[in-house]
Amino acid sequence: MSILVSVVTTLLFFSSLLFHELCHSYIARLNSIPIRKITLFIFGGVAEMTKEPPTPAIELKMAIAGPLASLFLSGIFYGLFLLAGFFNFGLPVTVPLSYLALINLMLAIFNLVPGFPLDGGRIFRAILWFFLKDIKPATKIASLAGQGFAYLLILVGFLSVIQGIIGGIWFILIGWFLNQAAQGGYRQIVLQKALSGVRVSEIMTGNVLTVVPSLTLDEIVNDYFLKHRFGRFPVVEDDKFFGVITIHDVKEIPREKWPFTKVSEILQFSKKPFTISPGNDAVHALMQMVKEEVGHLLVIDKKKKLVGIVTRTDIIRLIKVKTELGM
Ligand SMILES: [Zn+2]
Repeated sequence: MSILVSVVTTLLFFSSLLFHELCHSYIARLNSIPIRKITLFIFGGVAEMTKEPPTPAIELKMAIAGPLASLFLSGIFYGLFLLAGFFNFGLPVTVPLSYLALINLMLAIFNLVPGFPLDGGRIFRAILWFFLKDIKPATKIASLAGQGFAYLLILVGFLSVIQGIIGGIWFILIGWFLNQAAQGGYRQIVLQKALSGVRVSEIMTGNVLTVVPSLTLDEIVNDYFLKHRFGRFPVVEDDKFFGVITIHDVKEIPREKWPFTKVSEILQFSKKPFTISPGNDAVHALMQMVKEEVGHLLVIDKKKKLVGIVTRTDIIRLIKVKTELGM
């Protein structure tokens, strides 16, 4: 009986967490904000890149939805607890219900702490954003509050552990994660700010060295791979882009066949290259590179013409220059 009770309680607890998150997502979707999260490893792996809400009002609504959901659940469980007591259901029913009511209340309270990126921190940021009319300083202040709260948790954790309360380790862990997330959240804003409004065409490298599809593998190895020491070449003829040939593709073909095999023949078996259009913005390019785990994208215009190549380094350089200039 007690195993069944704890299994059901655990399931209800995780469902409560899920409900909290789903309420955030629901409001996000109502405002057509994609909820997909991408880990951005170029800045140390903790920053999660999602589209930021377009206005303080939307941010506020999105942020408050979660704690309200938890408060609502807490109320429901508390009501059920009172009801179960009234009908004398006994401890196996009332204890889990009181626990669920309490844990949801604690969840709401913890998330309402005004430190970014907790929900309360997002609410705080939305308010600052509304008054300052700028998301960047608003995020900075809210993130500092988040870091402050994180250090407080770590301190409380250490003090508990010193006193022999092993559970204090949890405070240290949560504090550590929160600190990372607070720093990452601010970096993300700096990054988006630096890249906003910048088109791929402005940062790409034009005049890419290309090869024609009629070359043999012997020719491409001797005249291109060995000579220019690039690992890949876009294949282009009469301004039309056909794909990318890499050293890896060539290696797949036995060496004795190289003089008779044309680039066009192996091109159809090689993987589809990652491309982007010159009119896309730089944030989009960076997100695509992170998602597809590549270091560069080929820039292809509407007429399927290769106009350039954009690399992660190009984007990072732009961010560096802009943040150094405080732009
Ligand atoms: Zn939340």
